[in-house]
Amino acid sequence: MLEDIIKAQIKAQGPIDIGAYMMLALGHPQHGYYMKKDPFGAQGDFTTAPEISQMFGEVLAAWIADVWFKVGQPEKWALLECGPGRGTLMADILRTFKAIGVVLPTPYLLEISPVLKAMQQERIAGGVWIDQLDKIPADLPLIVIGNEFLDALPFKQLQKVDDIWMERVVALDQGDALCFGLRPYHGKAPNVHAADGMIFETAPARESFVREVNARAAASLFIDYGHLEAGTGDTFQALYKHEYVDVLTHIGDADLTSHVDFSVLEGRKTEQGAFLKALGIEARAEVLRAKAPVEIDAALHRLTADDQMGKLFKVIGYTNEDIQLAGF
Ligand code: SAH
Repeated sequence: MLEDIIKAQIKAQGPIDIGAYMMLALGHPQHGYYMKKDPFGAQGDFTTAPEISQMFGEVLAAWIADVWFKVGQPEKWALLECGPGRGTLMADILRTFKAIGVVLPTPYLLEISPVLKAMQQERIAGGVWIDQLDKIPADLPLIVIGNEFLDALPFKQLQKVDDIWMERVVALDQGDALCFGLRPYHGKAPNVHAADGMIFETAPARESFVREVNARAAASLFIDYGHLEAGTGDTFQALYKHEYVDVLTHIGDADLTSHVDFSVLEGRKTEQGAFLKALGIEARAEVLRAKAPVEIDAALHRLTADDQMGKLFKVIGYTNEDIQLAGF
């Protein structure tokens, strides 16, 4: 069992940081959460925007098409999706490109899970699966997207104790149960005002990944839950069958994420509801409503309403080109 493996590792080598714990829980080759099952949908642990409605992918396709037009409609180009899940978003985007006359890109997919990769392979014709950004030919114009990908990348939690920043780690208690502990932190102290006991999260791996993407791509678009302003607080969460559970339980069976701190990422930022509306999701819903009015209205509400995904989810767009990005 993964819990035993993690305990044995802590016994042998000492407490592990939260990023390492997350990497094991999600990505352990045999028992990791993403390695063994399809986590989405009603039967799974959570539902994501592309699984709610095709409108999400259609609107993202419009955003990508706009960038593609503005950079001169290259005949050969690449579209990379990070963490494509069931492949629904990419399939919806490629279908929309065909409908609106955008030259199809080579779809590149960055995916850690063999189970999900197999599902994606059935749905994405001509896809190329990669494990690193530099596998994409350097001369191909590239646009990068990712929905609920950044939240799955490892992060750290720092905690202020007696005016000193310590790092939260996963350790073993007297009875050999997993627990949180603290160890000295030697990295850069965060530049936030925090009262004693406050937790501050930082995600160097996430930040460097986004920097690497933005150094290479003509434009990028990431969508995730998180905050636009820097802040303190514990956002480490585990989701199991649509319920929140203790992050140190259901190891390998629950999805682990943290909120994305968009304030440290460079780009244009907005809320998902505002972004989807600016790109015309309501007009699209109007057209689709004729076929399935109840479903379309429910999906539109879930994706855009303030008390649904509309405000909690944020969108960040970045470009290296001298162009205006739609929707911000
Ligand atoms: N974008 C999809 C899935 C979101 S879940 C949707 O919106 O439905 C997160 C996705 O990222 C999954 O496909 C998961 O397998 C993948 N993933 C998580 N960590 C990853 C990593 N380190 N490298 C590559 N893919 C990863």
